[in-house]
Amino acid sequence: MADEHEHRYEPGAIESKWIERWAANPALYAAEPASSGKPKYYVLEMLPYPSGQLHMGHVRNYAIGDALARHMWMRGYNVLHPMGWDAFGLPAENAALKNNTPPREWTLANVAAMKRQMQRLGYAYDWATEVTTCLPDYYRWNQWFFLRMYERGLAYRKKSKVNWCPECATVLANEQVVDGCCWRHETTRVELRDLEQWALRITAYAQELLEGLDKLDGWPEKVRTMQRNWIGRSEGSEVDFFLADKDIVAGPPDAPEVFTPPPGAERIRVFTTRIDTIFGATSVQLAPEHPLVQTLAAADSALKSQVEMLLEEQKKARESGDIGAIEKHGIPTGRFAINPFNGERVPIWVANYVLMDYGAGAIMSVPAHDERDHEFAVKYGIAIRQVIAPADPAIDAGVLPFTTMEGTLVNSGEYNGLSCITAQKKLQQAAERSSFGKASITYRLKDWGVSRQRYWGTPIPMIYCDRDGIVPVPDNQLPVLLPENVKITQAGGSPLGQIPEFLNVTCPRCGGPARRETDTMDTFVDSSWYFYRYTDAHNSTAPFDSGVVRYWFPIDQYIGGVEHAILHLIYSRFWTRVMRDLGMISNDEPATRLFTQGMVVKDGAKMSKSKGNVVSPDDMVARFGADATRMYALFAAPPDRDLDWQEDGVAGVSRFLSRVWRLVTKHAPAANGSKAQGAGLKGHDFIRAENGQREPGASDPEGSSAVSTKLLRKLHQTIAKITQDFEGRWHFNTCVAAIMELVNEMQAADAQLSAGEVPAPVLRELLSSLVLLLAPFAPYLAFELWEALGEQSNLLRTPWPISDPSLAKEDELEVPVQINGKLVAVLRVAATADAKSIEAAALADAKVQSRVAGKSVAKVIVVPGKLVNLVVK
Ligand SMILES: [Zn+2]
Ligand SMILES: [Zn+2]
Repeated sequence: MADEHEHRYEPGAIESKWIERWAANPALYAAEPASSGKPKYYVLEMLPYPSGQLHMGHVRNYAIGDALARHMWMRGYNVLHPMGWDAFGLPAENAALKNNTPPREWTLANVAAMKRQMQRLGYAYDWATEVTTCLPDYYRWNQWFFLRMYERGLAYRKKSKVNWCPECATVLANEQVVDGCCWRHETTRVELRDLEQWALRITAYAQELLEGLDKLDGWPEKVRTMQRNWIGRSEGSEVDFFLADKDIVAGPPDAPEVFTPPPGAERIRVFTTRIDTIFGATSVQLAPEHPLVQTLAAADSALKSQVEMLLEEQKKARESGDIGAIEKHGIPTGRFAINPFNGERVPIWVANYVLMDYGAGAIMSVPAHDERDHEFAVKYGIAIRQVIAPADPAIDAGVLPFTTMEGTLVNSGEYNGLSCITAQKKLQQAAERSSFGKASITYRLKDWGVSRQRYWGTPIPMIYCDRDGIVPVPDNQLPVLLPENVKITQAGGSPLGQIPEFLNVTCPRCGGPARRETDTMDTFVDSSWYFYRYTDAHNSTAPFDSGVVRYWFPIDQYIGGVEHAILHLIYSRFWTRVMRDLGMISNDEPATRLFTQGMVVKDGAKMSKSKGNVVSPDDMVARFGADATRMYALFAAPPDRDLDWQEDGVAGVSRFLSRVWRLVTKHAPAANGSKAQGAGLKGHDFIRAENGQREPGASDPEGSSAVSTKLLRKLHQTIAKITQDFEGRWHFNTCVAAIMELVNEMQAADAQLSAGEVPAPVLRELLSSLVLLLAPFAPYLAFELWEALGEQSNLLRTPWPISDPSLAKEDELEVPVQINGKLVAVLRVAATADAKSIEAAALADAKVQSRVAGKSVAKVIVVPGKLVNLVVK
């Protein structure tokens, strides 16, 4: 008879068996209601776009979240671990063009294919809460939210410069422009166009979004920094210069001490962060699109053509993505602006580097104290006047520009001698008193343009009536359904505009003929609130039940790619605040903790079809099994670092799992014997008795062999290490390595295990705990071996093992000995040794003695268990 333990580990057979078992038991991964009384834990991975194929980045992201979810179940939490589909978007339309398949059909087929892949990989998702954003039961709530925002002035229509990707044939948000190119089409230059657009007023929350970042200490600092920079708050001042009459020329004020604005004079508002330098302003610079420039140019055809040239240069620079590097050009308008602080008349220029959408499209130019202004003034011979003297005498006061605020004011009238900071406050107060300025804050963040001229998205629920203007679709007419069977073409504007049944509608206000909005929403709308819907996915009367959301939110752990640091993660923080202000939820932030995993690369390069280095998850699973594929994704690198995919590595993990399988199945009968004998214990009871302590009677090492003590020590050290890692730094690679070490020690003791030198209860504790530790990383094998150990209980609800410090403690420790700070020897001492005996052992060491010979030991410092340092002269 063949030894049954010679059987091979066959992941294919084991995994298909459990796929069926798990599918037949939907409660296995289901969240429980709040009434369960357990503490809740909401773990979430970012939902994928259903392209039709999971890639290795997905596999890794979900393996991280899945390990955490399984661990938290075993820690006794009520876990919500859902999955869904970010299912609207352009690729479906491209596929429709290419294959003549309707976008809906293509998308839903991809969803089904990827769901099968996820199930094959064994991810513990509660599919009862699945959300698919392209289905009307979801997107109707996008429309509902849009209407609520419209009522509150948060959704509005504005004519604006928009980023246009010729490849997508649609508008892009600023965030979707990367180095002047489309975020999807990395080599397609984005153009600027003027369009009437729907926008969401995210800027109304700019300050709150910024301040909230300080409290998000569970988010990576790099993400918070990226958001801070994106919001781009700058503190400064608004000051009104005044347009001088046409016949006035440059020069000093007529009566500087008593300047009052000429009544009715046109104001030119500038934004500056350095009002303390305003006495050094020697020109005012306007953006080519500034209304005053447009007025002046209308009356001056020479000026007009020059302004158009500047505008063209600016447009090109913007499209190239680096407006900061533009070669600066300007032209004098021939008119003058009056500095309100001293009445001085300074020339007004138009400049290609001044942007209409920063501040108010006008700046004061202070060449003595600003690099850019200095460069411009030197180029065009504009006056340079120093108004700040450096505080540091080592700085040559004559070298300009001097741009720091470490100085005092000069040439600044009554403000002379003040520090820059003090002067700023006083100047702001003076400006406010005289009504020509005030302290002011600007943000780089712009409102979120959400209109897309595409078919495959949420229809914007608005109607245009010739009589009534813009009329919102009434709530009882939601959802505005996206028509099916639409012919997708790339020409002729929005596809929805070519469908009369969609376009023509009765005005809800006057009953007359009207037209629907044909733009659809940016798909980032879909992902801004999907995780709320998971908690109540089938609600047909509201986006979700507020009570249910209050129980689950905020998300305890959100996991996804750092590429979403500013897009999705700012929009969803905004959406959360809007819902809070609608009284629907009470949390300010969507997620308490955020983790951004590294990329999966191959031979150091990003995987891509064009490079031909894509590793297919299906292929890996077919060859090595889901467990090995997932475990390798956790083992090959710390989760926050990039992972270079090595097939040898997956094969190695597969061999390791095979060893685990042989070890446990071989010794299970002996261990099960102990269970049958009983001692009144039920399965895992040795791990946690009623009082939360390890049950001492179960596998008491007292009186048992040295090998038992050694193996239990290793086991309890491993439990402590992995438990700590789940609670803290998430170095799952070292967790897997620790399990490997444990298995190595058990295998090394194989002869003793076979000879019965380890008492059955200890053997049982060793094998059961090993399986429990494996469960978050290799769930299929863990379930299989749990059953092999004769366990009937649900592995996922079995308590996580607890480390017993008295068992984990080493008998002996290694203590380094240093002489004058240099390592010379390593002692092995009893873990319980006191300072005195360690000192004696150090002085008795041969290596130490040879170094000390002929010298005198001035001092011996002993840190018990850590270090001995001898000071020798
Ligand atoms: Zn594009
Ligand atoms: Zn009407």
